[in-house]
Amino acid sequence: MSNIIIKGARVHNLKNIDLELPRDRLIVISGLSGSGKSSLAFDTVFAEGQRRYVESLSAYARQFLGRMDKPDVDYIEGLSPAISIEQKTTNRNPRSTVGTITEIYDYLRLLFARIGIPHDPVSGEVIEKQSVDQIIEKVLEQPEESKLMVLAPVIRGRKGEHKKVLEDAKRAGFVRARIDGEVLQLEDDISLDKKKKHDIDVVIDRLINRVDNRARIAEAIEQALELASGLMKLYVNDGEREYELSFSEHLFYPNSTVSFPELEPRLFSFNNPFGACPGCSGLGTTKEFDFDKIIPDPSLSFDERGFAPYNPDSNWARSKFQALADHFGFRLDEPISRIPSSVMDAILHGTKDEIEFHYVNKNQTGHFEYRGRFEGIVRDLERRYRESSSAGIREWLEGFMTMSRCVQCGGKRLRPEALAVRIQGQGIYEISEMSVRDALVFFRQLELHGSQKAIASQILKEILDRLSFMESVGLEYLSLNRTAGTLSGGEAQRIRLATQIGSQLVGVLYVLDEPSIGLHQRDNERLIHTLEHLRDLGNTLIVVEHDEQTLRTADYIVDLGPGAGVHGGHVVAAGPLQTILDSSGSLTGQYLRGDIFLTPREERRPGKEEWIEILGASEHNLQNIDVRFPQGAFTVITGVSGSGKSTLMSDILYPRIANSLNRSHHNEGEADEVKGLGNLDKIINIDQSPIGRTPRSNPATYVGLFTPIRDLFARLPESRARGYKPGRFSFNVKGGRCENCEGAGTNKIEMHFLPDVYVTCDVCKGKRFNRETLEIQYKGKSIHDVLEMTIEEAADFFSSIPAVHRKLDTLLSVGLGYLKLGQSALTLSGGEAQRVKLSLELSKRSTGKTLYILDEPTTGLHFADVQLLMNVIQRLVDKGNTVILIEHNLDVISQADWIVDLGPEGGDKGGNVVAMGTPEHIMTVEESHTGRFLEDHYRNHPAAALNAAVNSPEE
Ligand code: ADP
Ligand code: ADP
Ligand code: ZN
Ligand code: ZN
Repeated sequence: MSNIIIKGARVHNLKNIDLELPRDRLIVISGLSGSGKSSLAFDTVFAEGQRRYVESLSAYARQFLGRMDKPDVDYIEGLSPAISIEQKTTNRNPRSTVGTITEIYDYLRLLFARIGIPHDPVSGEVIEKQSVDQIIEKVLEQPEESKLMVLAPVIRGRKGEHKKVLEDAKRAGFVRARIDGEVLQLEDDISLDKKKKHDIDVVIDRLINRVDNRARIAEAIEQALELASGLMKLYVNDGEREYELSFSEHLFYPNSTVSFPELEPRLFSFNNPFGACPGCSGLGTTKEFDFDKIIPDPSLSFDERGFAPYNPDSNWARSKFQALADHFGFRLDEPISRIPSSVMDAILHGTKDEIEFHYVNKNQTGHFEYRGRFEGIVRDLERRYRESSSAGIREWLEGFMTMSRCVQCGGKRLRPEALAVRIQGQGIYEISEMSVRDALVFFRQLELHGSQKAIASQILKEILDRLSFMESVGLEYLSLNRTAGTLSGGEAQRIRLATQIGSQLVGVLYVLDEPSIGLHQRDNERLIHTLEHLRDLGNTLIVVEHDEQTLRTADYIVDLGPGAGVHGGHVVAAGPLQTILDSSGSLTGQYLRGDIFLTPREERRPGKEEWIEILGASEHNLQNIDVRFPQGAFTVITGVSGSGKSTLMSDILYPRIANSLNRSHHNEGEADEVKGLGNLDKIINIDQSPIGRTPRSNPATYVGLFTPIRDLFARLPESRARGYKPGRFSFNVKGGRCENCEGAGTNKIEMHFLPDVYVTCDVCKGKRFNRETLEIQYKGKSIHDVLEMTIEEAADFFSSIPAVHRKLDTLLSVGLGYLKLGQSALTLSGGEAQRVKLSLELSKRSTGKTLYILDEPTTGLHFADVQLLMNVIQRLVDKGNTVILIEHNLDVISQADWIVDLGPEGGDKGGNVVAMGTPEHIMTVEESHTGRFLEDHYRNHPAAALNAAVNSPEE
């Protein structure tokens, strides 16, 4: 099999590189953050694969994609169809769940439609279909010699004259019909009131119940079922009493005329109107106006805006409320709490009586009066919410609503009948609520017999396969009904990986971005097996990864570098592990050889006397736990994936503290109490989300560098002569920018079913400013040239401008010297964005009382970058601040002053504190997976062990 041959790759920072990669192998690309890994893997290899795919499409399809740029590479040979598995989730649909993305839910729906047993949602009784034979038996069971009438219910409670139905029945040879309870001759002229609802049963036969009439009875039943699409009624008169029975070949509630919906896959879909709960259209939640938000403070009067959505200065609102006040006898300047509750009820929900309204508009030109019922505040707001075409107004109104679990389905999203269908006692909701692990147990023990087995075994296999793929990528703790929007990037990526194994494709080139993110060392092995499995199926994998274990497993490693950005983009070493180990220039090689490691700290910080304490945390899977963190120290929260780390940090710690310190309004997860915030003045969450969502934001604007630079340009003599103000040099306002791209340098093309594409502006050729603006130069550089400089170059260029230089300096200290000042926020990796944010924090004057929280900050970072990051973090803590982060990286964990280890496992088997204390203490706790890996880590890095001896365990 030929190799993949790449010649002359020059995308972004790649230095015209040539490479030959083996096919059907696991290839890992390593190197510093910004060295060019993604540029090679995604923007060169994968992009070219995509482009060739697009070329193969019809001319029609291509016209939408025609402007897709060819990556800057001379040629690539030996490419297979490429699939990329990235972390970025494009799936923002609130209806997607783990079950729907993995297709497991689709197979579940099929399974329930085929072998589910319907129950009465109210009584819980089993509901069964009747076959023609069963119906015949039931009819014959009626008292012997009684008079029977077999009826076909063709019309049930429908308005109209129904002429055609009656005509058809007559033509088919039937003589009578029972219309609204009365038996009439079809021959007669029957005219029905078309404005009324009618019931029409065609009389199929009238006969006596006798065994020797069996054949005739059976024939009548069959005819009736056919005529009334599976329904039939039987009138019985045994001489003493008359009664009626209903039958159906379809599902029917026992002893009723209400039919149960047919079991078909769409009945179990919350995305289909047929199956969705009518109360919430299948979302599981409803938004309703909340009286506590409409009247936040009942001690206020209408005049003091006690009814928050109603401005007392608005004539319209005032005239309405004045009419109510006059009618009910209250005053607009008295506290709302004084209004009697029966009156409040009318105000909220509407009046029974008609009320006199007078409306006079502001300048007294219009006046109008009318009498009518007041619809009530709730209905008024609902109507405005429904009818308003302004997103702003809807958003404002949403501020008075609370999202709550739908009362009809209790958040289960399906209509009651769907929820009442069971397989071995379990409904589809109960199954989708199970973790992957429990669902595997349930389906493995499922016993099916006879025809059920034949019908279901293939479906069952599909379900079991997919569940085990989920398990193999370490996601056994997720439940199928977990909404996609609540998954972390790593989880979403591993789900996509699991679905790929399921597809069983062969000869594909998979490109992956750090699949180990969010995974504890313990689960890494399983993930690596999955990658090997995909390879062994006959696929090529190109994985961007920093994880040591993955690097050691790779068949082939490409190490890029030696630096980042302009200093990177070279192939430092390429080959099997040994080649990298033998390479003297490769940082990755030095790291793998153990020549360099993260310098451990001399000793643990004792922390301040103060502790932040969380008591009784019980959100998601947390088991009512108490946790404490030392202030003025560096804490790492550890634990396997799904153990509850993010729940503790993002659902409890952050919102609670932010609401109390920053006066924000985040939803708080369940916990009894959070104490010990006395010494803190703010909390800052430094995540990996982009520093901006448009190509206009960039590192310079984010850290506030661009303002002094614009001022500098405006002060130049030429600018003064021309009257240019700082705004002239802004790409966000009209004046100096290129108007064709409104200063973005690129134009966005919406691709509809694909992600948006940005193409360089034809007018300014990406320079963002108009010609006149670009004529102004400082030390020979235009404003555009400055934006094109790397931070490193700029630090040199602006060395004499302190305001600019200081900010550049902090960006340098977090290792981002290679970024361009004007590089679009959209092109920064999550790790780069996070470090830009850190650098902004470093440049602020510190009070030493800030709490910083970070979620897996080493994502995307090479070992050497981790060192830089840790330097920054330790500097923040040295200034007295508190840092708490979630991390799996052992180098980072070993630098912690304090560790909170959650677990022991994920999901319902997690959520406990396994160990809490210094790293040395964690290692003594046997149940701690983290402790075990930490011990190995210390063994492999003797310098760290030295540190361990200095610090005695505690807690
Ligand atoms: P890695 O994946 O190794 O972290 P990248 O391939 O993302 O590195 O980036 C290599 C260099 O190219 C970095 O300097 C980065 O800032 C730059 N870069 C990345 N994407 C773009 C882009 N779309 N336009 C311009 N420069 C980019
Ligand atoms: P970790 O951060 O340690 O990986 P998480 O805090 O994300 O763990 O998850 C802990 C448990 O809570 C898991 O069982 C997870 O499936 C569940 N969980 C997390 N977020 C949600 C959510 N938004 N809705 C429901 N369950 C959730
Ligand atoms: Zn509902
Ligand atoms: Zn332009």
